[in-house]
Amino acid sequence: MSESRFEWLGQAENDVLARLATEPCPQRQCDGTLNRGEYKDAPAVVCDACEVPAARLWSDDA
Ligand SMILES: [Zn+2]
Repeated sequence: MSESRFEWLGQAENDVLARLATEPCPQRQCDGTLNRGEYKDAPAVVCDACEVPAARLWSDDA
């Protein structure tokens, strides 16, 4: 079923990540592509070139 270890993700969260993971990197100087991944142990989309996380679902760095 899921290829992710974040099996607790809901359908809505998976949809968001799946959609974002098709986008090009938002960094102007970068021509990488976003991929599903994780950042600080949270589900995220991360550029495969510059490794900048473009989005993550739960922020915990407050
Ligand atoms: Zn990038």
